[in-house]
Amino acid sequence: MKTPLPDWLTEGQRHVWLPYTQMKTAAMPAPVVRTQGSRIQLADGRILIDGIASWWTACHGYNHPHIARAVHDQLDRLPHIMFGGLAHEPALKLAKRLCVLLGPGLDRAFFTESGSVSVEVALKMAMQYWFNQGEPQRRRIVAFRGGYHGDTFGTMAVCDPGVGMHAAFDGIIPHQDLHDLPLDDASSDALDAWLREHAGHMAAILVEPLVQGAGGMRMHEPFVLARLRELADRHDVLLIFDEIFTGFGRTGTMFAFEQAGVQPDIITLSKALTGGTLPLAATVASRRVFEGFWSDDPAHALMHGPTYMGNALACAAALASLDLFEREPRLAQVRAIEGQLREGLAPCAALPCVREVRVKGAIGAVELHSTPDRAALCRQFLEAGAWIRPFGNIVYLTPAFTTTPDDLRRLTDAIETVLSALPS
Ligand SMILES: *Cc1c(COP(=O)(O)O)cnc(C)c1O
Repeated sequence: MKTPLPDWLTEGQRHVWLPYTQMKTAAMPAPVVRTQGSRIQLADGRILIDGIASWWTACHGYNHPHIARAVHDQLDRLPHIMFGGLAHEPALKLAKRLCVLLGPGLDRAFFTESGSVSVEVALKMAMQYWFNQGEPQRRRIVAFRGGYHGDTFGTMAVCDPGVGMHAAFDGIIPHQDLHDLPLDDASSDALDAWLREHAGHMAAILVEPLVQGAGGMRMHEPFVLARLRELADRHDVLLIFDEIFTGFGRTGTMFAFEQAGVQPDIITLSKALTGGTLPLAATVASRRVFEGFWSDDPAHALMHGPTYMGNALACAAALASLDLFEREPRLAQVRAIEGQLREGLAPCAALPCVREVRVKGAIGAVELHSTPDRAALCRQFLEAGAWIRPFGNIVYLTPAFTTTPDDLRRLTDAIETVLSALPS
């Protein structure tokens, strides 16, 4: 017998607007009543193993007691205070700790509340940097095909339009300059030649290092980042790494750029920054960028300041999350997950519906030849006890780093079983 849906769901569903969802044909979302570790409990008592970590945020699993305690303590003492003219310990400690982690060179953190806004701030920093240097014509951004950087107007302009699901706003978005990632000599030479001609109007190059996430879990090798650093230096444009997805261990190192041995001028962080508990983002700039705003002219100040900037609860959660990276073997766990994903997803490569299997760190992606019926796939994964939500023709796993080998095995098995039944 089917358990009836809870009233809060059937009544509230008539008043809520869901993300990226055609509400007319949308299936009723699954009602979640509890989370714990890598498990999600539904209202009817079913327990799902989580393969997504809530859009890549919950890197320590859900409800980690260390983060919970830190947020409780902060809530009792000082939940939030405006960041204009007032300072508080969690935000300033977090700024310092992030800069130490990122390494010398990146040393000023600007806090916001979402990934998209942190990218907006990075773009504003880059453009105003040049404005302040007396080069106001440098206001365009080099971005890459397959990239995704957010949903606001400024970030839509640097997404691959085919990826960003932004067609309704065509003609309004100030589209930037989209290029192929310099994966080989031909594309590097093409970008180099293009920059030779256009660098005088370019503020920055923007890229998701190592993995283009929402654009299809497309992966590239670290040398591509070294190449971008070289091109940025040669043509004197700033380099921005959007590590909102890749930051905090997801690709096997604390930050993806470490694998390339090059630093950006500006980096954006969010998603796993608070271990998947509270919304927070940071845009961290190099000394060079920061010094570009250091002046006696008030108009040279960075013109941004969200109301909930540096929220103390979120900063306390982020500090606790960073503690866990120090106290618990997160990067070793990511390496183990990488090995198990490679092995567990390998059989999928032979299925008729599958084009390619890709793994990097705790990211496993199965690219299909065609876009499946997502609702049908999600239903089958649910029946297999797994929370897996494909996008486009990509079925992927981005589990919590604390996911046990048994749970991970059940996730990869669920993918193999469900995809086995798909026609090519
Ligand atoms: C998710 C994501 C964003 C947008 O972050 P929001 O918090 O959803 O605004 C930007 N860039 C990358 C690489 C992302 O993965």
